[in-house]
Amino acid sequence: MSLTAIPPGATLGVMGGGQLGRMFVHAAQQMGYFTAVLDPDEASPAGRVSHHHIRTAYLDPQGLDQLAQVAAAITTEFENVPAPALAALAQRRPVAPGADAVAIAQDRAQEKAHFGRCGVACAPYALIESAQQLADVPPDLLPGILKTSRLGYDGKGQQRVKTREELARAWEATGQVACVLEKMLPLAAECSVLVARGADGAMVHLPAQLNQHRDGILAVTEVFEGNLPPERAKQAIDATKSIAQGLDYVGVLCVEFFVLADGALVVNEMAPRPHNSGHWSMDGSDVSQFDLQVRTLAGLPLVQPRQHSPAIMLNLLGDLWLRHGDVEVTPPWDQVLALPGTHLHLYGKLRAPRGRKMGHLNITGASIEAVRATALQACALLGIEPF
Ligand code: ATP
Ligand code: MG
Repeated sequence: MSLTAIPPGATLGVMGGGQLGRMFVHAAQQMGYFTAVLDPDEASPAGRVSHHHIRTAYLDPQGLDQLAQVAAAITTEFENVPAPALAALAQRRPVAPGADAVAIAQDRAQEKAHFGRCGVACAPYALIESAQQLADVPPDLLPGILKTSRLGYDGKGQQRVKTREELARAWEATGQVACVLEKMLPLAAECSVLVARGADGAMVHLPAQLNQHRDGILAVTEVFEGNLPPERAKQAIDATKSIAQGLDYVGVLCVEFFVLADGALVVNEMAPRPHNSGHWSMDGSDVSQFDLQVRTLAGLPLVQPRQHSPAIMLNLLGDLWLRHGDVEVTPPWDQVLALPGTHLHLYGKLRAPRGRKMGHLNITGASIEAVRATALQACALLGIEPF
């Protein structure tokens, strides 16, 4: 079904109830929509703030039926929502992004083939789905990273390998599921770009985001004029637009890139949804990535967002609650919030295990120097390694 404008007052649905769903729900509710979340977890961050929470598995026909009944259009917040569930919903309601685009983003092999079709270079790689393909891996792909083709996130499902023996053992350890081996590249930096594309093909973007990962998890995003060389930022934005266009995409799409030591830009992966690296836009831009998701889903006009403040986002992982041992201790939010330009976002998760994304802190200000100084003070208060 195609998307026609859905006015506020209607109900918008989202598959998945994590923090991205929660922030979508907040943005939709702010504009006067009702919301419905489908997620099996009773304590899901989005389910707990939504008008409707359907607690079933993603492929449960009754759950999907309920969602299609209550919601005028449906989006997704989590790329591992089974594509067949989206396809089933699309028989009855507009679904954005569509099952085809999500299916491509769910599979690293298909994703890389799509990047190739769009003329965007990715790291040299080989598919490993059989013992023969394992034996045929060209030696120049080592050292490399073996990534499962499906179901990876936050560095899970990845193993770094230096030799053929390590590669063979690593593939064995995956249970010999379909994988890609990527050559390990010398990274000078990492960046990402978010675009929003409407059903009519109109497209807007957020500025290129400079990202630092720690242990495979995003730690810091910095967005300010000059965070990347302007021609590199433009190249990343253009590449993201052609990737979205090539999918005939509707919704918010994030593409992650590597900047290599020689300055070359290489695409890493895409996410068919808002992305952790775009959270700064909630406080540093006049339109956030979640506002864009609501607009694309509801068929509302897309206007080019304007970044009004330099911004830094710090991810708040469960580790910050565990600085004094295994008993969770609330971080000193009062001291952090005493710093000018700090915006605290917590996702309402009930437990804070190490590595879990509990929230993020956005810092905005008049200049990047001021923002960075405040961010470093916040890091010191919270026990985040300075960047
Ligand atoms: P997420 O979905 O949370 O972004 P993921 O588990 O899908 O993460 P990737 O984005 O593939 O993982 O990789 C995580 C990080 O590992 C990258 O951001 C980068 O820092 C590093 N990395 C991945 N592939 C390579 C590579 N080919 N060369 C060098 N570093 C890499
Ligand atoms: Mg990634």
